[in-house]
Amino acid sequence: MRAMRILIANDDGYLAPGLAALVQAMQGLGEIDVFAPEQNASGTSNALTLSRPLNIFEARGEHVRGFRVVNGTPSDSVHVALTGVLGHRPDLVLSGINNGANMGDDTVYSGTVAAAMEGYLFGVPAIAFSQAEKGWAHLDAAAAAARAIVEQVLATAPLGGAPWLLNVNIPNRPDAASLPRVLTRLGRRHASEPVIRQVNPRGEPIYWIGPAGDAREAGAGTDFHAVANGRISITPLQVDLTDHAARPGWAARLGLPSE
Ligand code: MN
Repeated sequence: MRAMRILIANDDGYLAPGLAALVQAMQGLGEIDVFAPEQNASGTSNALTLSRPLNIFEARGEHVRGFRVVNGTPSDSVHVALTGVLGHRPDLVLSGINNGANMGDDTVYSGTVAAAMEGYLFGVPAIAFSQAEKGWAHLDAAAAAARAIVEQVLATAPLGGAPWLLNVNIPNRPDAASLPRVLTRLGRRHASEPVIRQVNPRGEPIYWIGPAGDAREAGAGTDFHAVANGRISITPLQVDLTDHAARPGWAARLGLPSE
């Protein structure tokens, strides 16, 4: 039996400590390839670069040796790997470990989730990992938790069948690897904070996107609730945006047959 092949990506860029930690934590599980953005591409969601070609170079230096660096988005990185550059189909795609939570509505904007989702869209099982707070505190513990989760998942969820997509958020704690894991649903955030207007050195107005809103729906069962209570949150995600429950109502309202 050939070794398992794992493709690892992220959205914080190839130099991010969370990527090196995730790669290190997966050593021994199989053959590992890394495709990651050259720059921090957090918040780029599923964007693909269509207006210019992409360059890929191989990183040198400690912790990143052999990483393939793509001057594009997280989705670009996984996309080019899966559509020809990697030369084989991986068994598993991992993304992260992200610098900060990807819970609730974050998952819509997240490049970390998108990199994993790109694998999922190509039929490859995928897991996105995030640390709940920025700053890389207790990153080693988060990486150990990621390893334990991958081992648990591989022992129970078959590879090679229907793909699946898991979103994992890990509290920044020294005991992260031994925290309870719970299966959650996405919570919801309040709308983002207002845009921040400033004036640049040439006297022109500039605008910063405001920070994400606080958790609005964070009750029991949500990812927010799990992490706030010292648990590792694991949320299975899907990609179907269809509002199935609303279809009959719209069909009646618009007088249209529901196909
Ligand atoms: Mn990020």
